[in-house]
Amino acid sequence: MELLSRKTEPVGDGSFEKLKLVGSGGFGRVYKARHKDWCFDVAIKILHDGVNMSLCDEAYHMDKGSCNFVVVLHGTYQGCPPGVTSPQQGLVMEFMARGSVQSLLEHLSGPPQWPLVCRLAHQVALGMNFLHSQTIMHQDLKPSNVLLNDDLNARLADFGLSRVSTSALNSNREKSVMIGGSYKYMPPEAFEVSYKPVRAFDIYSYGILLWSIITGKEPYPSADYDLVNLKIPQGDRPCCKGIDLMREREGLKELVDLMERCWDGSPSKRPPFKGCLEVTENVFSKHENGIHDAVGQVLTRLNSPTSNQSNTSVASSVLLQTPEQSKPNDTVDNGPLTQ
Ligand code: ATP
Repeated sequence: MELLSRKTEPVGDGSFEKLKLVGSGGFGRVYKARHKDWCFDVAIKILHDGVNMSLCDEAYHMDKGSCNFVVVLHGTYQGCPPGVTSPQQGLVMEFMARGSVQSLLEHLSGPPQWPLVCRLAHQVALGMNFLHSQTIMHQDLKPSNVLLNDDLNARLADFGLSRVSTSALNSNREKSVMIGGSYKYMPPEAFEVSYKPVRAFDIYSYGILLWSIITGKEPYPSADYDLVNLKIPQGDRPCCKGIDLMREREGLKELVDLMERCWDGSPSKRPPFKGCLEVTENVFSKHENGIHDAVGQVLTRLNSPTSNQSNTSVASSVLLQTPEQSKPNDTVDNGPLTQ
């Protein structure tokens, strides 16, 4: 805890300049700011009013969960951001210049180049395996909580906030679950009132996240909480039709097989992240040579003013479907999904 107490000495407004709101989620608002002494940009996450949690506890978990694949915690914040009159508390974190995987998929209107898909799958598995090895559960693994640095390397965020349980947080949490679509990444067993989270929760979320990065789509775009709550425990999963279109990609079959094992209805049948890593490491190793070009191409598209125009032929009907329908169709070959 010594290192932690040094790190969590709150930093005040005097240390920052150029504070700018980046976005907000279920738990708080995120600002970009430049630290005057450190001379680099940071992200400051201010918790919403009523979110009653120990920042020190949160910082402790972020510190404990610190590795290359987890967003770096620089310290804590106490101050009044623009437009706010009373002092607020927050976390000072590494600024992830390329936003989240969610925003990447939205900008590209589809999946990124295949080598990058493979690297994202691998880096998320590395981060999650590390968190689980530190006995930290994420419980809100989804594309908006996988952040990207300048080179599109992935780091996990928001893994501590979901553990905290107070009535105030629960109402914010519910809001977050609804607004941020977290319920689409929740395993069937988690819809039961008496559910107590275990690691298999995160592994299911990883399976849905794999589907999202492979297809570049949001799962069940038109399904509300009630429909997902009804259908997922019955065995429905995201539609795999669009995935058939890219089946010639090396390693796709392995990733789809992993995805289906991760979202198995039975928690005990889902592989641990250590097992996921064996697959993702092997798949990524086949595409490591292509990662430089893939990142370059994605960055070029992101920097282009037309980057958010639709360029994909992925099945537009990416909706709920039955377990039978969700099996990849080996007889269809309609060419690559995108690009
Ligand atoms: P939810 O609360 O449902 O998880 P969310 O993940 O979008 O939703 P936040 O984590 O509060 O909510 O993030 C709000 C916005 O700030 C998002 O656009 C996210 O990409 C961005 N963001 C969060 N942390 C950072 C960071 N360290 N660096 C850069 N941008 C960040």
